[in-house]
Amino acid sequence: MKRAELLVCHDCDLMQRGAPCPPGGTLRCLRCNAELERNLPESLGRALAFALGAFVLFVISNLYPIVGLSVNGNLVRTTLWHAVEILYLDGMWPIAALVFATTILMPGMQVVCLLSLLVPLAFNRAPWQAPLLFRVMYIARPWGMTEVLILGLLVALVKLSHIATVVTGVALWSFGALMLVLAGASAAFDARQFWSRVARAPQPANAVKVADAPSVTTNFARGQQAGARGERAAGPLTGAACGIARCHACGLLARMPAAAHAATCPRCGSALHLRKVASLSRTWALLVAAMVLYVPANVLPVMDTSSLFGTQKDTIMSGVVYLWVSGSWPLALLVFIASIAVPMLKILGLSYLTWTTQRRWTWLPEQRTRIYRLIELVGRWSMLDIYVITMLVALVQFNALATIRAGPAAIAFGAVVILTMFAANMFDPRLIWDAMERENASAR
Ligand SMILES: [Zn+2]
Ligand SMILES: [Zn+2]
Repeated sequence: MKRAELLVCHDCDLMQRGAPCPPGGTLRCLRCNAELERNLPESLGRALAFALGAFVLFVISNLYPIVGLSVNGNLVRTTLWHAVEILYLDGMWPIAALVFATTILMPGMQVVCLLSLLVPLAFNRAPWQAPLLFRVMYIARPWGMTEVLILGLLVALVKLSHIATVVTGVALWSFGALMLVLAGASAAFDARQFWSRVARAPQPANAVKVADAPSVTTNFARGQQAGARGERAAGPLTGAACGIARCHACGLLARMPAAAHAATCPRCGSALHLRKVASLSRTWALLVAAMVLYVPANVLPVMDTSSLFGTQKDTIMSGVVYLWVSGSWPLALLVFIASIAVPMLKILGLSYLTWTTQRRWTWLPEQRTRIYRLIELVGRWSMLDIYVITMLVALVQFNALATIRAGPAAIAFGAVVILTMFAANMFDPRLIWDAMERENASAR
């Protein structure tokens, strides 16, 4: 049994004593129900097995063609890399860069970092540059969108099957498997167990010593003393009230230097904040930019099809209508939700959260925190249409018969997705709860 330890919630900043977590069990926040800790038996071994599988699948997925299109005995096939290249040569380099980053670069970095962190540990050695690789992995994880790519490929297959005979390639299946294995690796990797193993592994003589979780129990006691002196009377005690920040990446609790608002994590080197700096104004700035770009994203053509019968310009909405009319209504619904409803609800939801937090509302904080988690979870699925366009552009290149090119709205749309993801990242849900603290303090 592990001893009880101090926990600080990443969503509401409540400080609480964690009970020993049984194997397979989860500790949740008393106030906002966020998942604080999960005790995964054999976490690192399983993550390593998944990461090795992901590495093999990643290589296969990028070497072999995903899908081919056969017109009059002519077979056009494309790999993901080739699709990116065609977008780039068409002058759509922002979209090419976006697709490259989210489907090749970020998943690749995630797999490589996982392997370089876990393989040395399996041989009981300290990994090389563990803090740096851990940070890179933490940053890469939300931007790898293999699961959205798979869905985009399926929608593209249905659209293409109306044009010509579709031949599926090896990479389509290996991407599907990669999606599952990557999700398994992310779910199995437990940062807490990882760092306690790193601290125990023999360190090379010249390596920077990686700090083990320092005891913050004294800080807790200090905070309680502060509370007893009346600065924060018996109300819930937060990390910020005790000057303790929780590292976003590795979960370490670190004491902030006095009078400083930012510092770096002694264990993984990520930036530490009691609260994200200028969170609300930065969220607003990103949201306003997203709102402005949402208009051209929906009004301008997202795709140009030129064929023997002339040129046809499609907006996102007319693409949905086309799918609906051609009988693929489940896909029409899917594209509508991912490309039109989700970005709009995300902009509205985040504006609501930012506004109510700015007004210091104390109304339904738990529900608002839940809305925030939902926004963070679904935002990535808006990339769906970008991947559909990528595959159509890559495959429909029959000069005389038909050619599809990406339209200007694709760039605006990609920017909306990225801006709203940054906005969600910039928003600090702990600010929702700070209004409650103030109310508690003033009530006494
Ligand atoms: Zn909480
Ligand atoms: Zn850290």
